[in-house]
Amino acid sequence: MSIPDPPGLLALRHYVDAEVRKLGDRQTDLDDRLRAYGQSVQQLAGDVSRLVGSVEATTPFHWPDLERADPARAAERWAKLQSWIDNVLVDYQQITRELRPCWESHGAAVAVVTAAWLTWVAAYRTTKAQAWDAVRWQRDVPTVADELRTILGSCGRDRCILTLIRGGTR
Ligand SMILES: [Zn+2]
Repeated sequence: MSIPDPPGLLALRHYVDAEVRKLGDRQTDLDDRLRAYGQSVQQLAGDVSRLVGSVEATTPFHWPDLERADPARAAERWAKLQSWIDNVLVDYQQITRELRPCWESHGAAVAVVTAAWLTWVAAYRTTKAQAWDAVRWQRDVPTVADELRTILGSCGRDRCILTLIRGGTR
């Protein structure tokens, strides 16, 4: 003897099953959309940081001007330059071996290193960079090394030519 379904119960069960299936589909759809949004946000964040970094870092500037106008920004930028030296320039020993301990006191040496940094950022960290920009940068490495040798060649680990010129302040 079987118990008959109460009236409408079977129809209700079919309805609930169909709704559960639809919810499952919606959940999958939402998961896909969420993943797509996550990727878009990540991409945007990358674009923004690349653009902000490139616009700020490749605009030519003169350190004394920046230090006078905005010391905090100058300090921030100097930290970026140091980070670039530690992470990128360190691989170019032709250049780094010319950087005597006193190089930061030589305005011309700072200008050469800064120009190398800005052109590197332009070649490797901007969306408009072309392959030739990187080639040019690589080809300029010996020139940068030569310029630094000319500026710092008379300085050593414990002595700086500026000490003689400026009368013993360094
Ligand atoms: Zn020196």
